[in-house]
Amino acid sequence: MVRGSCLCGGVAFEIEGELTPIQLCHARRCRKATGAAAAPEMLAPAEGVRFTRGQELVREYEAPLLSEPPAYRRAFCGTCGSPLPVALTGTPFFILIAGVLDDDPGTREFRHGFVDEKAAWHTITGELPQYEGRPPRP
Ligand SMILES: [Zn+2]
Repeated sequence: MVRGSCLCGGVAFEIEGELTPIQLCHARRCRKATGAAAAPEMLAPAEGVRFTRGQELVREYEAPLLSEPPAYRRAFCGTCGSPLPVALTGTPFFILIAGVLDDDPGTREFRHGFVDEKAAWHTITGELPQYEGRPPRP
């Protein structure tokens, strides 16, 4: 079991089950959603995600479609803005940003996605594979 929480501590959650390795997503929307050079994203089995505190504080935002469904959805704490796990539409997974985890998820960063949308000021270092656009689902 892996625990996570938001910056203000109002929202906390637990995840049972296997988490995927972490994809560093450089897509413009993921950079906007996190404020970071890349969003460290991972998937969790939907049935294993449980909010243990503050679910009433969770807000969601769905961005307009860029090309095809599903729409880009993000969940966040309505008090402090931390990104929180959100159902990945049409799949049995939740997507989450690894930075809000309080425990070591056991998995590690394994690739970069959407490097064609990378921030001009950011330099990717290291040997992890890089994908232009969306990489295949892990
Ligand atoms: Zn919060």
